[in-house]
Amino acid sequence: MDPTCVLCDRPGPASIGKLAVDVVIDQLERQTGSSLPRSRERYGHLEVSLLDCSECHLQFFHPPVVGDATFYEELAEVSAYYEPLRWDQDVATDLVTPGAVVIDVGSGSGSFVETAAGAGARAIGVDFSAGARSIAGADNPTFVQARLEDLRDLDLPRADIVTAFQVLEHVEDPRGLVGSMAALVVDGGRVVVSVPNRERFAVDPMQALDCPPHHQTRWGESQLRRLASEVAMVVESIHVQRVINPARLALRMVRRARTTKPADWSLPPAAGARPLTRIVNGTNLVAVFGTSPQTAR
Ligand SMILES: [Zn+2]
Repeated sequence: MDPTCVLCDRPGPASIGKLAVDVVIDQLERQTGSSLPRSRERYGHLEVSLLDCSECHLQFFHPPVVGDATFYEELAEVSAYYEPLRWDQDVATDLVTPGAVVIDVGSGSGSFVETAAGAGARAIGVDFSAGARSIAGADNPTFVQARLEDLRDLDLPRADIVTAFQVLEHVEDPRGLVGSMAALVVDGGRVVVSVPNRERFAVDPMQALDCPPHHQTRWGESQLRRLASEVAMVVESIHVQRVINPARLALRMVRRARTTKPADWSLPPAAGARPLTRIVNGTNLVAVFGTSPQTAR
């Protein structure tokens, strides 16, 4: 069956290339120093295509190969891999007012829940992982362990701000997830999402972390704008992270490219590595969506 776009439903996306998941796993092990034997057994025989929607130009992998809890456990064993990311959370923190209800979807270590609570909000984190539960503690009323697909069915208060940092690119149905987030927001409230910026500079054409089983979709600014309209919200602002020291980043990436064995796969450079002119574009995008046209800028 022909796939349809997971953002706009348009059928007949163009294929940019194909890849074998075992090649992604090879690269992940090399680049992160992790060991992924159980994930290799589970996903290594699969092949996926990277598709580009002719309508909204979301890039997405098909068929979906979504990492399970075991995959994330294996990846997270190298704890240094997940660097704390605060830039995107700072954008949302600026919107938090005392007394506001904040729900963070995919709350992970709970860092944003803590920050929002520190700013006077009533903050709740939702995450599927046992790791997030154990960090939060067994009886923590500010944490709900649940699959994100079930967000609509949870007993959560209506919120002033619902956030999801670096979550959309991991899930099979990002529009459905953000639709559920939008349903939780009060009139005049906001949804804040961050994703990796696909229009960033990168030496490695594969970017294994941007492939299944880790990531399912690749986003630019215009796809975030489309996402807002798909969930009947309006774009208040889009923030593009900038690289503070491009020369240092370039040096680091060139070194990494030298130590990374080129992958044997067929994605063209346009799907991955970016020209040097993109070097000022950092890794991330944040979108702030509002509920009413009056709040749009
Ligand atoms: Zn589309």
